[in-house]
Amino acid sequence: MKAEIISIGTELLLGEIVDTNTSFLASQLSVLGIDLYFTSAVGDNPARLQGVLKQAWDRSDIIFTTGGLGPTQDDLTRDAIAALLGEELKVAPQLKQELINFFARRGLEMPASNVRQATLIPSSTALVNPQGTAPGWWVEKEGKIIVSMPGPPGEMQYMWENQVLPRLQKRAGAAILTRMIKTFGTSEAKVDEMLADLTPSPNPTLATYAKLDGIYIRIAAKAETEEEAREMIARREADVRAILGDIIWGVDDDSQEGVAGRMLLEEGLSLAVAESFTGGFLTHMLGTAADSERYFKGGLVAATSEVKIALGLDPNLANSEDKAEVARAMAVLARQKMGATVGIGIEGESGVEPESGMVPGTVFIAIDSEKADLHTVRSYSGRLYQMKRRAAYYALFDLVKLLKE
Ligand code: AMP
Ligand code: MG
Repeated sequence: MKAEIISIGTELLLGEIVDTNTSFLASQLSVLGIDLYFTSAVGDNPARLQGVLKQAWDRSDIIFTTGGLGPTQDDLTRDAIAALLGEELKVAPQLKQELINFFARRGLEMPASNVRQATLIPSSTALVNPQGTAPGWWVEKEGKIIVSMPGPPGEMQYMWENQVLPRLQKRAGAAILTRMIKTFGTSEAKVDEMLADLTPSPNPTLATYAKLDGIYIRIAAKAETEEEAREMIARREADVRAILGDIIWGVDDDSQEGVAGRMLLEEGLSLAVAESFTGGFLTHMLGTAADSERYFKGGLVAATSEVKIALGLDPNLANSEDKAEVARAMAVLARQKMGATVGIGIEGESGVEPESGMVPGTVFIAIDSEKADLHTVRSYSGRLYQMKRRAAYYALFDLVKLLKE
């Protein structure tokens, strides 16, 4: 089956947003064994949108679109598909009622313009969207399929998982399941090398992805039944775990702060952090994690040694050249000041290498708890923003490792 993806929205062409919908869908299609031949982006312009759709219709079997399903005049996807297929848009009473209910639940009246989102053509059925107001469309005609999904990535991905993927799997007559294994602290090249014996397998497949919070490995298995696919995944996951061991910190929807939080709660521990260098990234991650008020006491964020002293750090330590020692003192300070059972301190330094423009950095992470006084020094380069984010992930990774001991 030849597929193509069209992302719709002028903001994409102005460089205002990055087209993450296309990369999400492309990665999903490869798992399904659907051949993706083309992707394109087009603005909110009726003639050009219709032109791109016509071209796709002529050369592909299945077309995925995202965006342009909103209620306003520049949301043109429905009109363009109707025009392409020579069909008439009509308001579907049930969809209209669902929209009215959606607004009523928020104590609002449906704006008149939203009725556009309740329209269908004879060849389309609605894909429900509990996350927003725009239903998607599943269109079938002359042996071809158009799947139109909303632009906001959260809504699109929800619709994909719950509406589109099951339909595609049913058509494929196969069950396809995936499992994401998440690692941290080892490079993608190294992970690839470690898994080299497993990667050539055509089913289940293995693919690696580099993310800010580590290298992910996706296992995808295709079988006649879901049970069979599940067993294939479980066997392959065991193989991967045997090779990668404790660089694995989570699976699927796990986040590092979520995993760390769960372990702290299980052990009845509480956490406080003091950050320099990272501008509060760790505090932000912990402070916004679900349920974190149950274990996270708070974070101190200092950018200068004067502030560290004002927060209570020993002046000799605050000005010390030995940054590892500073990180340790900050962990102790956070733990004591906030009455937590575990304290994390982060300190770091970086400079630009004039020749390469790279930013080599060293991060000092200390964890102070009754159980251990863990002290780690990380040295790595990258872009400054990424380096600082990564430091926060390193701190959580070290914490999880410590809690597992
Ligand atoms: P729309 O459905 O066209 O009204 O899009 C609504 C919002 O979804 C846009 O303002 C973007 O923030 C987001 N969005 C639309 N298309 C994409 C895309 N291809 N990738 C990522 N975000 C998108
Ligand atoms: Mg738009």
